[in-house]
Amino acid sequence: MTKSFKTVYDLIIVGAGASGLFAGAEAEQSIKTLILERNTSPGIKLLMTGSGQCNLTHDGNIKDFVKRYNNPSFVRTILYAFTNDNLIQWFEEKGLKCIKREDGKIFPASLNAQDVLSVLLDEINKKGHQIKTNEKVQSIKRDLETGIFTVNTNKCRYSCRNLILAGGGKSYPMTGSNGELFEVIKPLGIRVTALKPSLTTVKVCDYPYSTLTGVTIKQVALKINKKEAKPITSLGDLLFTPSGLSGPVIINNSRNMDSDDQIIIDFLSDATMHSLEERMVAYIRRNTKKTAKNVFFDTIDLPNRLVEHFLKRLNIKTDTKASEISVKQIHEMIQLVKSHPFIVKETGGFDKAMATSGGVCTADIRTENLSCKGIPGLYVIGEMLDIDGETGGYNLQFAFSSAHKCIFSFIIDESKKMC
Ligand SMILES: Cc1cc2nc3c(=O)[nH]c(=O)nc-3n(C[C@H](O)[C@H](O)[C@H](O)COP(=O)(O)OP(=O)(O)OC[C@H]3O[C@@H](n4cnc5c(N)ncnc54)[C@H](O)[C@@H]3O)c2cc1C
Repeated sequence: MTKSFKTVYDLIIVGAGASGLFAGAEAEQSIKTLILERNTSPGIKLLMTGSGQCNLTHDGNIKDFVKRYNNPSFVRTILYAFTNDNLIQWFEEKGLKCIKREDGKIFPASLNAQDVLSVLLDEINKKGHQIKTNEKVQSIKRDLETGIFTVNTNKCRYSCRNLILAGGGKSYPMTGSNGELFEVIKPLGIRVTALKPSLTTVKVCDYPYSTLTGVTIKQVALKINKKEAKPITSLGDLLFTPSGLSGPVIINNSRNMDSDDQIIIDFLSDATMHSLEERMVAYIRRNTKKTAKNVFFDTIDLPNRLVEHFLKRLNIKTDTKASEISVKQIHEMIQLVKSHPFIVKETGGFDKAMATSGGVCTADIRTENLSCKGIPGLYVIGEMLDIDGETGGYNLQFAFSSAHKCIFSFIIDESKKMC
């Protein structure tokens, strides 16, 4: 038989991940708070972030953050209310020094995600809030007359006046955020948009570059040609992997890619076709006795191993005399460098994606306090919302900022009720 507690909590938070723990750490001592977590310990995904180093947030003006998410107008007020600088200050005040990497990513100076988790758990402890693990929330009901929520887990029945859903998305399901909570909240009438893996690598058809694994090409221009939508363009670094394409430009745009989409890579985005042609022709004129290998290695500012692949693909023999290279071959080479086509075979699934695109419909959520329209006392924060950001610390920043905005508005609302 399910155990039932008489206590009516002021607040129950479902999920002890980044957002749920931050909400718990910020909830005042006077707010009787319980955090329910299905795993045997809190913060399992948090410990995996940034390969165990935890890329907390990113450097830069918060104004520039907004465009790093799928829904800039929704995230704006939330991020402005608790910025990257506020977050760094928050952790540093609690003794966790942060450092900035050359690429702008912010980490704890210890490069240890465990230290981030420890700060959050210490704060929760100090406030006297409880975390109960091995408690999988299986159903939630709200009494229309009293407004009290009943939260049923695999073990117990709990009651609360306010409920924050912080159950995460569906990526890396073995960390506990496996999407099941979306089914649990459906009876409450909460709308959920289609869930899709985001921040993942991409496999392409007839991938020829597995031998280039580990090679990064800086600042390529990516264009995604979709069948029934406008092309999407982006700029960033690309990485070759054994089975496909990766790197920030691919990972950040993976949410926009579907099987059979065509993607075009411009490997030399800062050179025009015309300038490349001029460079090649001038080189050939000056060096008639050199070989095709010399011509293309010396005029294309890309790793030689990649240019070697292009030569093979275009059936240009490396020892062809420069003077014998045809105009057609020059044009074909430039075409490949500036407009290399790939067809998407598949994007990595939820087990490989670092975030989830889709979630609780943001149209049903108030940005001023993250509350659900039409369900008083219910709030949704973090990745459970239909918000996903780019790699670089943006997803954790949103998890923390949304938790902050929710808790602070909640504290104000509660104190108004007490007056
Ligand atoms: C490998 C990896 C690396 C990443 N690295 C970074 C990074 O360096 N920087 C960055 O910004 N982002 C990173 N992310 C993304 C980031 O981790 C997430 O966006 C963030 O953790 C979301 O926080 P959350 O609290 O919303 O959800 P989660 O952290 O997923 O937490 C949700 C919690 O809810 C619990 N839960 C779910 N359902 C129930 C239920 N029914 N009952 C009880 N509990 C439940 C889950 O067990 C889980 O503990 C990474 C993601 C992955 C997978």
